[in-house]
Amino acid sequence: MTDDDSTETMITVRGFTKRYGGFTAVDGITFEVARGEMFGLLGPNGAGKTTTLECLEGIRTPDSGMLRVAGIDAVHDRRRLRAVIGVQLQASGMPENITPDEAMKIFCAYHRMPPRYDLLERLGLGEKRRTQFHELSTGQQRRLALALAIAHAPRVLFLDEPTAGLDVQTRAELHEMIRELKVAGTTVILATHDMAEAEVLADRVAILLNGCIVAVDTPIALTAAGAGLTKISVHTAAGSLLTGTAAIPDVAQRATKDDYAIFYSRNIGRTVSALIEAVNAGNDTLIDLRVERPSLEDRFLELTGNKRGLG
Ligand code: ATP
Repeated sequence: MTDDDSTETMITVRGFTKRYGGFTAVDGITFEVARGEMFGLLGPNGAGKTTTLECLEGIRTPDSGMLRVAGIDAVHDRRRLRAVIGVQLQASGMPENITPDEAMKIFCAYHRMPPRYDLLERLGLGEKRRTQFHELSTGQQRRLALALAIAHAPRVLFLDEPTAGLDVQTRAELHEMIRELKVAGTTVILATHDMAEAEVLADRVAILLNGCIVAVDTPIALTAAGAGLTKISVHTAAGSLLTGTAAIPDVAQRATKDDYAIFYSRNIGRTVSALIEAVNAGNDTLIDLRVERPSLEDRFLELTGNKRGLG
């Protein structure tokens, strides 16, 4: 029995610091992940996401701090840790001539269990079971890595950029599988640059910047906590709002794009009803009105000041 059996906390990180020589890659971060939670680590290149995952996986040794996974000390009890965690290996971690069948056999032998060939079928690799790794597509390699990571039914699954470089359909399929693991009770910690991925998958997200956590919350709360401007785009028959000077309440900024007049609003309800009144008052006709709430990406850029975009 591990101490996590009596607690709802599956991962505890306290005052964790990691240095490479004189450079501090992770600077005293603290967070917790609940049992069954899907937790996203989000941040620009070099923020410290992979370093954090690798220390939790027992691959790297932190300089200070406490890291516990499923009640196990990730620094001093790596043998027990390996039995309860699953790690989705990057392509570089796999011999190029190995086949999915061989890889599954070796991984399961390590965990002293029969090979889970059914998982290869389940993950769409049925026809590729005897194909060498280097002949698999990127998506197939990523599916194999996921199959190997979950074969021993780990209690905690670590995913580092699980869908980077995949086409939209493969990405959606992997997202669906990751969601199923969560439904089955697996705790998942996911490092990603991909805001949309974090927004659809993660229950909570920590935003890392220069080795520090600048925010941690649910994607919805994080976006709501930002400047919170909602984009309202309006297209009318006569374009009266494009040049109109009518005062619209709670608008922080105006712009135009193609035939749309765009309003960045602090209060959707008041702005939308004033816009409709203005259209009617100008004897114009409403053709299209779109309301877009700020995305996690908007909030991420706001918090990190990363104007170059992500990745
Ligand atoms: P990315 O999104 O680019 O993968 P990341 O958030 O995962 O970035 P890390 O890989 O954890 O970031 O790297 C954090 C910082 O530590 C970076 O500045 C990186 O250059 C540095 N770093 C990582 N590994 C080493 C190492 N083995 N030796 C020296 N510095 C390292």
